[in-house]
Amino acid sequence: MANHLYDAVFEPHAASRTAFLHLSDGTTLSHQDFAGTTARLAATLAAMGVAPGDRVAAQVEKSPTALALYAACLHAGAVFLPLNTSYTDQEVAFFIQDCAASVLFCDPARAAQLETGVAETSGCLVTMAADGTGSWQTRHPSAPPVKAERKGDDLAAILYTSGTTGRPKGAMLSHDNLLSNAAALVDLWGMTAADTLLHALPVYHSHGLFVACNVSLLAGARMVYLPKFDPDQVIAAMPDCTVMMGVPTFYTRLLASSAFTSQASQNMRLFISGSAPLLAHTHQAFEDRTGHRILERYGLTETSMNTSNPLNALRKPGTVGLPLPDVDLRIDHAEPGAAGEIQVKGPNVFKGYWGLMEKTADAFTTDGYFRTGDLGEIDADGYVTIVGRSKDLIISGGLNIYPKEIETIIDAQREVEESAVIGLPDPDFGERVVAVVVETAKDAVDPIALKNILARSLAKYKLPKEIITIDTLPRNAMGKVMKKDLRDLISRKHLGMEH
Ligand code: AMP
Repeated sequence: MANHLYDAVFEPHAASRTAFLHLSDGTTLSHQDFAGTTARLAATLAAMGVAPGDRVAAQVEKSPTALALYAACLHAGAVFLPLNTSYTDQEVAFFIQDCAASVLFCDPARAAQLETGVAETSGCLVTMAADGTGSWQTRHPSAPPVKAERKGDDLAAILYTSGTTGRPKGAMLSHDNLLSNAAALVDLWGMTAADTLLHALPVYHSHGLFVACNVSLLAGARMVYLPKFDPDQVIAAMPDCTVMMGVPTFYTRLLASSAFTSQASQNMRLFISGSAPLLAHTHQAFEDRTGHRILERYGLTETSMNTSNPLNALRKPGTVGLPLPDVDLRIDHAEPGAAGEIQVKGPNVFKGYWGLMEKTADAFTTDGYFRTGDLGEIDADGYVTIVGRSKDLIISGGLNIYPKEIETIIDAQREVEESAVIGLPDPDFGERVVAVVVETAKDAVDPIALKNILARSLAKYKLPKEIITIDTLPRNAMGKVMKKDLRDLISRKHLGMEH
């Protein structure tokens, strides 16, 4: 039976003895062994009564078995629901109840706490530890698994958006959303069976699971599959790899290590960055250190990848590159002269939010473009630059201020490592602009001088009322600054100072 994504990504390798996963303990796993684990898991799912279209949730540590669970769900026709390992019991309960998951795979250490949430869904809970073992192995399926028929439009996965505000929404991704995007990226990034991907991303997010794994498997490439990003481990693995996909934090952390030299990256042909903005000075510092220009691309959970800088033409720092060949991207200028929203249409665009018809309708324009909520510009060569997020907006005295505009100027200062601009409650203006800055060295930033620099290019109402220095910005695992946490942190600091 035809199974759109599984047949393209996993099936072609199933009989191969090639070691395709290289693990941090020095061992390897062949496609054939991986297919064996996949079959065992798929049979277990069937024995638990999982039918095509049922949701299977997993909050498990990154492991080859966790990846096999994704493959097994596709094989069984189930909808895979990977969950961030840092979600609390309450959050997990919300997700599995929201989409009525039939099964939750979780770490043995979490099983007791998660049991209650699962009980309310009438689903079952099985454990899977970081070494792949767990209660799932104690179920003994009586028959080999039957591959489910799945067409391009059938759902392959639901990923809850990492939205920093509001209720998380389950983005429904079809087999063809994922396959068409992976195929486009294999082509764009020149991925082949000769490549080895340095995989240090988590596998509960679109970046580490779909971009990294689907693309590598489709190309027949190998992966050095590390449990997490550890700069020393990554540097040690690099001579055996050709491509790395990372979030900007990976690159800043590599640059912070003196062990990271051009020698260490000699065998590499491509470094890719995405999920959060790569600062132009990180791009430059990386090129100075290694001779490699990081290739930046842009995507969302709902769309997978929309744009990418080119492999063999100019990679423009500060831009996210050109729209993918089958992605129709436009900037919607609601008000002339103002920043416009990036809107996209294409085979990569998701099917909607699970159970949320109204929110789904709001997310699309009447002519069928997905509203990304990112604000962008397109230059004369067609390169897209993200200039802000409509969701990340400060309204001060009734005027709209996009933090990104201010952050870009602050980040360009030599004495600034990075920054985040936030709005804090203000009795007069509603919100006031506050810049939070990480310095390259203690007391390197002179707030008055920085305000003067900003005043040269920004309207007065956009200027930060305060500039506060901080050691590090709170970020999530995907490298995104968590502005809500930052606002809370700074508000607490203020209160502390007042007492
Ligand atoms: P997520 O759904 O977690 O993948 O987050 C998607 C959001 O991450 C986008 O809407 C962008 O705001 C941001 N993002 C992703 N890639 C980039 C990038 N290369 N530069 C700037 N922001 C990015």
